[in-house]
Amino acid sequence: MGIQLAIRGGEPTIPSGAIKHWPPIDDTDRKMVMDSLEGGKHTFGPNCVALQEEFAAWNGNRYAITTNGGTAALHMGLVACECGCGDEVIVPAYSWSSSATCVMQHNAIPVFVDIDFDTMNIDVDQIEDAITPKTKAIVVVHLHGLAVDMEAVMAIADKHGLRVIEDACQAHGAKFEGKKVGTLGHCAAFSFNQNKCLVSGEGGMFVTEDEAMHKRAQALWSFGEEVAPTERRDYHVYAMGWNYRNNDLTAAFGRAQLKRLDHYLAAQKENAAALTRELEGTPNLILPTEPPECEHNWYNYTIRFDMEGLAHPHDARAFRDRIVRALNAEGLETGVWQSFILPAMTVFQNKDGYGHGCPWSCPHAAAVDYSAERFPIASKHCDSHTGMTTPLRSPNGPQVATLAGQAIRKVIENADQLEDLPDGEE
Ligand SMILES: *Cc1c(COP(=O)(O)O)cnc(C)c1O
Repeated sequence: MGIQLAIRGGEPTIPSGAIKHWPPIDDTDRKMVMDSLEGGKHTFGPNCVALQEEFAAWNGNRYAITTNGGTAALHMGLVACECGCGDEVIVPAYSWSSSATCVMQHNAIPVFVDIDFDTMNIDVDQIEDAITPKTKAIVVVHLHGLAVDMEAVMAIADKHGLRVIEDACQAHGAKFEGKKVGTLGHCAAFSFNQNKCLVSGEGGMFVTEDEAMHKRAQALWSFGEEVAPTERRDYHVYAMGWNYRNNDLTAAFGRAQLKRLDHYLAAQKENAAALTRELEGTPNLILPTEPPECEHNWYNYTIRFDMEGLAHPHDARAFRDRIVRALNAEGLETGVWQSFILPAMTVFQNKDGYGHGCPWSCPHAAAVDYSAERFPIASKHCDSHTGMTTPLRSPNGPQVATLAGQAIRKVIENADQLEDLPDGEE
């Protein structure tokens, strides 16, 4: 027997307090938020305009609209791509829920495609099989900060006349063939909620290069009006509209954080490299991949356990949960993000969004199949993964990442100590 796991009464690998929380706050944050508070323009104000301009400049986009969240920006993307009642939109079977629910928000129908096990992103080889005469767009998600193969996706989209919405909510600064995500599809959504690589409490950004798409997104964002809030409003509603605007205090915080984004991303990369060095060669552990044409932003460092190797193929989910509890006992903040594939979630199984089965019951919609068996790779991933964000974020450095690696190694190499652990109790 090896050393005793903390969950079995041994010494935790990571001392309490060693992992610092995210995001770091400094005097620039304090000053900019307080100046906004005193500035007297708290709804869409000067910081909102500046955040749009600065983010567009940072990412290399022509148009940017700041929103109250990434989900709002995704909905704007759907509308920018003119997806409507009964139109089908292709979505990966594994992601955050709003990558798919944004489609229903405009009465369109999500059609799921399984993921590729190695990249955890949509399996681009299966996209064409999911295209029907009703398909209008593809939502690609650069999951965990790893870009989708956008060359393949754009070739399929061009061939079939489809639009591509990048869900870049986790992928600030991630690159494909040297180009930043958010500049590769027809439009994109970013999130600035507290988990993301650029934060402002809550918030997000819609970006595009296309003027007409920008106009449609802006109308949805501001009550269905056609003029920007900085222009003279005519208070006339031209289309279905929401209020997805950002506020000035939040935008001020986002601007302050944006000044340090490149530094944060560089630190994450260094920390992820330190963690990978520590974990390489650990038996029964599957490390995240970074294909040569991609530059990962390491938003979430996700590992999978080889459940065959650990002799738990039949109760993979339950055993994974024990591993995670053991990691937590070692002092490592890790958790299971999204343990369900999207099509298995109740809203899709029940096919009822707005009541009366809408949007699936709409006469414009065709039948879709959400049977979980159709997405075996996403299901396998859901049963065997755990991931982490905070331990690799600033102000944590490579020492913390190395400690995280030592904790994971210790638990995996001594997984036999988890055999007779009662489920759900420490
Ligand atoms: C966070 C996230 C969203 C939603 O962003 P919010 O700002 O929370 O609305 C959408 N898609 C993905 C992949 C995300 O991680």
